[in-house]
Amino acid sequence: MSVRVLPGRAKRAQTKHFQLFLDNTAGLIFITAADGTVCYESPACERVLGYTPEDMIGDSLLSFVHPDDTAALQSILTEAPEQPCKNGFVRCRLRHHNGEWCVFGITATGFSAEAGTMSVILRCHEAAEQQPYTQSAGQSAGTIGPDQEEYDTLLHLPNRSLFVEMLQQAVLPSGQKGLPLALLLMDLDQFREINGTFGHRWGDTLLRRVGSRVRQALRKSDCIVRLGGDEFGVLLPTVGSREGVIRIVRRILNALEEPFLIEGHPVRVGSSIGIALSPEHGADVDALLRCADIAMYQAKHTGLGFAVYADEYDLYSPDRLTLATELRRAIDLHQLTLYFQPKIHMIDGQVREVEALTRWEHPERGLLSPDQFIPLAEQTGLIHPFSRWVLRSALRQSKVWHRKGFTSRIAVNLSMHNLQDERLPHIIKKLLKTSGGNPNWLGVEVTESALAADPIRAVDILSHLHDIGVWIAIDDFGTGYSSFAALKRLPVDEIKIDKSFVMGLTSDIQDAAIVRATIDLGQSLGLTVTAEGVENQETWDYLAELGCDLAQGYYCSRPVPAADIIPWLQPGQQIGRHTGRQTVVPLQQARTVRRRTAVG
Ligand code: C2E
Ligand code: CA
Ligand code: CA
Repeated sequence: MSVRVLPGRAKRAQTKHFQLFLDNTAGLIFITAADGTVCYESPACERVLGYTPEDMIGDSLLSFVHPDDTAALQSILTEAPEQPCKNGFVRCRLRHHNGEWCVFGITATGFSAEAGTMSVILRCHEAAEQQPYTQSAGQSAGTIGPDQEEYDTLLHLPNRSLFVEMLQQAVLPSGQKGLPLALLLMDLDQFREINGTFGHRWGDTLLRRVGSRVRQALRKSDCIVRLGGDEFGVLLPTVGSREGVIRIVRRILNALEEPFLIEGHPVRVGSSIGIALSPEHGADVDALLRCADIAMYQAKHTGLGFAVYADEYDLYSPDRLTLATELRRAIDLHQLTLYFQPKIHMIDGQVREVEALTRWEHPERGLLSPDQFIPLAEQTGLIHPFSRWVLRSALRQSKVWHRKGFTSRIAVNLSMHNLQDERLPHIIKKLLKTSGGNPNWLGVEVTESALAADPIRAVDILSHLHDIGVWIAIDDFGTGYSSFAALKRLPVDEIKIDKSFVMGLTSDIQDAAIVRATIDLGQSLGLTVTAEGVENQETWDYLAELGCDLAQGYYCSRPVPAADIIPWLQPGQQIGRHTGRQTVVPLQQARTVRRRTAVG
């Protein structure tokens, strides 16, 4: 932008128009002197950042900028007056009046102001705004407003090129300092069908509504863009932990769960989100986009809604090909082993069941957790021999324990692929026979999404197992799409509230509401409710107060080898929580329990 210096009346008229435009623009604009002193802030500043003109004018804009970003802003403030024809761009965090940091893409343009001095106009593309600049505002101004090619014209969200620019700004500092950020790629599952059925106009409306719901599920500092078609990108510029990212992703998925009304028809839109973390999965934009893309396909493939990138999802990674060959051999070479984690009754402190969790003792890579090889087993078909190995080992272990008088059931995790294998009931019956085990000693855990893949077949297989006396649990409850109405029709004995909700129980009111509702409804359907991911006493106490039946988590015990679980299994022992070598009886913690329910 250039503002010509005009003499007399013409200048006054132009200044008036300019002022009028600035005061009426929806966007956040600052005019500063070359040293950063704020001379003007647009009215949006109060709405977006909470500052009145009195708060900022006369102060340096740099004093409102995150300390890590001041150098970058300083450099474009210096460059802009020197190169007035060039727009400098920087991503930087500005402090909201309430103390929070908000992320902006800032475009700086120098222009000559009064008495030949140079000023800088700063246009801030605030990630938190749904429509930061409307097209008409930009067009009517003619000279000012964000570059239209940086924004998607349909949704008024930043487009791919601006997103890449923002990512470049964001990745570099975090890559250098090891500060994590997350990139999400999100694709709508049935968009083509909706477009085909209702037409493009409704397709566009739907995209706008999706964009708006996702925006509302994000934090102020996060940024959503439309990458084209039905694909969106989300940048989470500051993330504390992987769990924190997953919590945000779940919020997005929950926000989309409610159907959209199109011509009076409720329309459901599923989505698949791929997650890449920096610096863990890459410290440059290309690597991150690639990882998020691979993770998105993984999410689509599993139907779980989202996936965090892992090397083994990458079909072309040599590492993955090697691992697949090794896994095939590991089953025969007895490199796999079962760890066990107790599920403890919250009233009597006794172990009702132990969950078998597989570990791979890899000769070079060390102890591998299931997340590192189960997706691979699923993709390569190895999941079938693998699950047979798990079931056989669990039943053998159970036989050994029963001989010693330990009667806890063992729960085994089954994959979506197992639930599509009609031979499964027959295989289990055969394994029960050869191991001399009893169906009542066995439980299976299946996720909601595993059921969703082919519900009729899955229900058929589970009913068969249920009929012979195998205990059935729905794992990671709350993360998939099954409803309580569907639960009524399923042959289910137990639901396990996903650990992401349990871990947020004491700090997040929404998580608390979900946990409470799940316990109440699960129990009213006569099901045992287990909370997984119980990591501390506060969570235990809260769950006890809510009347949850069983608890499982690091607070009680981490998954341990078979020998180490023995102290938990001693019959008649009032075992509570083992911490290290000590045994602590948590019975007094359960005093506040409001009601008691029968647990199988
Ligand atoms: P899952 O079935 O939801 O198992 C619970 C996971 O949470 C386990 O991870 C367990 O170690 C972990 N965990 C338990 N308590 C806590 C806690 O308090 N805090 C936290 N942060 N985590 C806790 P693990 O063993 O790495 O297993 C991961 C997933 O892999 C399992 O999730 C299950 O879906 C799958 N898996 C494990 N073993 C098998 C198997 O033999 N077959 C199949 N198909 N899947 C398996
Ligand atoms: Ca499980
Ligand atoms: Ca689980």
